[in-house]
Amino acid sequence: MPGLDESSVDQRPINRTAALERLEATEFDLLVIGGGIVGAGIAEAASAHGLHIALVDKGDFAGETSSASSKLIHGGLRYLRLGDVGLVREAHHERRVLMNVVAPHLVRRLPFLFPLYEDGPYRPWFVQSGIVVYSTLARAKLNGLVGAERAEKLVPQLRDTRLRACALYEDAWTNDGRLTLANIRAAADRGATVLNYAEVVGLDPVEVAVDGRTIQVRAKAVVNAAGPWVDRVRRLEDPRAKPSMRLSKGVHVVVDGGENWGAALTIPHDKIRVSFAVPWEGMLLLGTTDTEHDGEPDTVSVSDTDVAQVLDEASVAVEGLGPPRASFVGLRVLPGGEGGTASAKRETVFSTGPTGMVSVAGGKLTTYRRIALDALDHLGVRGLSKRPRPLPGATGLDRIAWPDDLDTATRNHLLHLYGSLALEMLAPATDDPSLLEPLVPGRPDLRAQELYARTHEWARSNEDIFRRRTTAWLAASGIPV
Ligand SMILES: Cc1cc2nc3c(=O)[nH]c(=O)nc-3n(C[C@H](O)[C@H](O)[C@H](O)COP(=O)(O)OP(=O)(O)OC[C@H]3O[C@@H](n4cnc5c(N)ncnc54)[C@H](O)[C@@H]3O)c2cc1C
Repeated sequence: MPGLDESSVDQRPINRTAALERLEATEFDLLVIGGGIVGAGIAEAASAHGLHIALVDKGDFAGETSSASSKLIHGGLRYLRLGDVGLVREAHHERRVLMNVVAPHLVRRLPFLFPLYEDGPYRPWFVQSGIVVYSTLARAKLNGLVGAERAEKLVPQLRDTRLRACALYEDAWTNDGRLTLANIRAAADRGATVLNYAEVVGLDPVEVAVDGRTIQVRAKAVVNAAGPWVDRVRRLEDPRAKPSMRLSKGVHVVVDGGENWGAALTIPHDKIRVSFAVPWEGMLLLGTTDTEHDGEPDTVSVSDTDVAQVLDEASVAVEGLGPPRASFVGLRVLPGGEGGTASAKRETVFSTGPTGMVSVAGGKLTTYRRIALDALDHLGVRGLSKRPRPLPGATGLDRIAWPDDLDTATRNHLLHLYGSLALEMLAPATDDPSLLEPLVPGRPDLRAQELYARTHEWARSNEDIFRRRTTAWLAASGIPV
């Protein structure tokens, strides 16, 4: 690989001081601003194409939108309703590639039921024909209408009063924070310099505020993948840059349940909006809201009204909802324009500023690989390969020699979060068996994961560990931070 200092390739255990020294001393081909899924995907793709890159995030990797999504890797049924067949086809293609090659441990198939109530916004024939088109674009066999009996077998909490039928189709779910982290790990494995808690505060020259000081970074090119902060970073380059997008707030609520669900629910509320009830990491994930946010991104928060709306909308189709266990909020970045945020297209907009910085705004988790390639194309990188590359941990999933003392549920959990890297994570437990003890009561996470998060996954705080590297924040006792 051109330009790589081989001594920097083995970056584990994580050495922040060495990474900082490299950030200051090196001239990079590319600096990526933002370690959400878009920046992480660009870093993965750029490093695979031989670029010598640095990636920085002002907070934790995946600390913002990319751990606050609905966790769906999906074609997007509502985009079909909005007439965006191209986006649906592309997203389905990406879903298949992620599920089959890039991250089969993290991206898993999931059937979805779309309940049709007598007083609902859709007639069954309309939904059925939509599902047929959707499933054709998905190249999925699972589609059609099912009766209440089969539907209730899949979703035991399904409300059956005035239920006419359910449409059945398939998509996939993921752990968004860990998918982002896996892309950063892939880039780091190829020698990328990656630093969280490092904020770009100036662009001419590039200045990064990190660990109480400000350092200058030299890079031939810069890409702005700052998500909801994209315009703020654009203004560092050009103080007169006009707003390029608007923000929509989406709140999710997590409740107990979901363990015995064989499908998720897509619940229609009107002709455009749907909400989801998704069995996720042994819990039930409900959401989301979609309301315009016109303040600074940092001011967004979950209100009681948001939580009440999510629970109300879920109860249209789910019976016996438990009390909220946790909630979180994210901001969608939508292209500027008129009209409601729910009907706005989830497109990606690229722009190039006066000093050549390429800014990426909007898009979906599902299509992150495609967005990354488009970003590199805008940066002028030639000979781009579209071939999917397995992320670290994505191969050898059926050949893992698990320690005997781990039960099947724990093995499955670790396989999902780490893939074949589970063995690397568990290695210190050979000398210290206490690392096989639970991290928090009632969750399948182990103490070894906490150690690994610090030594191999750039975690700096308890929140980084409990909220984004493990699923400990879902414990009944709350987040121990
Ligand atoms: C409620 C909701 C539900 C969604 N559900 C889905 C779904 O189910 N499926 C799907 O495909 N998509 C979904 N999406 C869309 C998807 O989550 C986003 O498209 C994606 O996460 C955006 O990633 P990003 O990297 O652009 O932004 P972010 O994840 O926000 O990353 C931007 C990063 O830039 C960093 N940053 C900002 N300024 C600076 C600076 N000056 N210096 C350094 N770093 C900086 C931030 O700290 C942040 O970590 C959803 C979005 C929302 C809001």
